[in-house]
Amino acid sequence: VDLLVRDACVVTMDADRRVHADGAVAIDGERIVAVGATADLARRYAPRRTIAAAGAVVTPGLVNAHQHVTGDLLARGLIPDRLDHHTIIGTWFYPLHLAETRRDEGLSALLACAEMLRYGTTAFLESGTAWYPGALAGAVERAGILGVVGKRVWDLPREPRRFRLTTGQALRALDQAVRTVRQRSSGNARPAITLVGHATASDALLVGASDLARAHGLRLAMHLAPVEADVQAFLRRSGRRPVEHLAALGVLGPHVTLVHLVHVSDREIDLLAEHGVSVVACPLTAARLGYGFGRVGKHPEMLARGVNLALGADNASAANTLDLLKLAFLLAGLYVDGRQDAGVLGAARLFELLTLGGARALGLADEIGSLEAGKRADLVVWRRDGPEWQPRWDPVQALVHATDGRSVDRVVVRGRVVVERGRLTTLSERALYRRVATAAPALVARAGLPALLAAMAELPETSGGRA
Ligand SMILES: [Zn+2]
Repeated sequence: VDLLVRDACVVTMDADRRVHADGAVAIDGERIVAVGATADLARRYAPRRTIAAAGAVVTPGLVNAHQHVTGDLLARGLIPDRLDHHTIIGTWFYPLHLAETRRDEGLSALLACAEMLRYGTTAFLESGTAWYPGALAGAVERAGILGVVGKRVWDLPREPRRFRLTTGQALRALDQAVRTVRQRSSGNARPAITLVGHATASDALLVGASDLARAHGLRLAMHLAPVEADVQAFLRRSGRRPVEHLAALGVLGPHVTLVHLVHVSDREIDLLAEHGVSVVACPLTAARLGYGFGRVGKHPEMLARGVNLALGADNASAANTLDLLKLAFLLAGLYVDGRQDAGVLGAARLFELLTLGGARALGLADEIGSLEAGKRADLVVWRRDGPEWQPRWDPVQALVHATDGRSVDRVVVRGRVVVERGRLTTLSERALYRRVATAAPALVARAGLPALLAAMAELPETSGGRA
């Protein structure tokens, strides 16, 4: 075999949730060929390369099931906090997206991929890029991560003008993006059908996009119901709640991934379960923009009903980190505290959402999500030499509750070591950050964000936020 990772505590996430206390993973080419006890695998294989991981924990790579990668990362930390959902999108994100160049999108995507890999994420589902899916696919391939990417479209909003598309144009753009991504791909960049969602797509676009996804065997992903406004918009439009409306149109199925779904009825949860839809919770955005997880959210009920749930880091300018272990911790925190119920979500279940749940939400459960023979060799070696790991009891509790991405030592994607001793091997991080430091102020200036900031500085702060 090409690579043997040995002497580690291997958390497989296989059907029996096996943990090998002194375990090993044998990798040949892009695939895992065996997982088991080190003594056994060391006897069976003569590896070309060995990673001796004594003391470390090895897990499947984490899966980020909703990530905006274009532009937004270049304004992270500049856009003020204390803004609501509509203000941050309409006032701040749109000017940014309108000012983006192909270079900006590629650079922002590369930064996102670098951050994900550094903190243990080996696969992600993108939200749909504003303009250049090819630049995105290029960044994914360069960084060496698995990225499912698409083109962001809608057909109902009239503004901003440059985003305006007819239904036919939107469907053609989606189809074209699939071809563009496939052309750029060596196997890591994968296409998806991505709508903005909320209430921005006509029934014809919803149906057309779903048909397109089914025809290509791809995911259909979109935002839905982070806030009550989406629900009201669908009720006005059809008299039905959002998920009821999608079900009535015949859009739902196992190929669909819906992002957020904080404001849902029990009837809608039944529909999600019946149609095998995946749901992505984004707790970081919820904590920053106020979606109501702990007050009205029903993600635990979705899990109880058998709905596949995954986690997404969402938009870096409204969530600020792409470190998935923080998401798991926060999701539990929002529900446990909001409901005053310590039993609502535990570490074992949360780690399933980060691995198996994410794999299903990307439509890649056969390829990723667990360490098993035949799957892609996508794994993380977590070092346990930090104080937060002492003493060494349950590794999954420690991952979810005690540590975060700082514990990542090595990351393997498709059999290739892409993070070594905590640093990327596929690109120069220093050169990347230098390019970001130049491009970000230029983009932000073209977008006119400094003028918005200056105008805000003249407003008094109020207890109700600035929205
Ligand atoms: Zn989003």
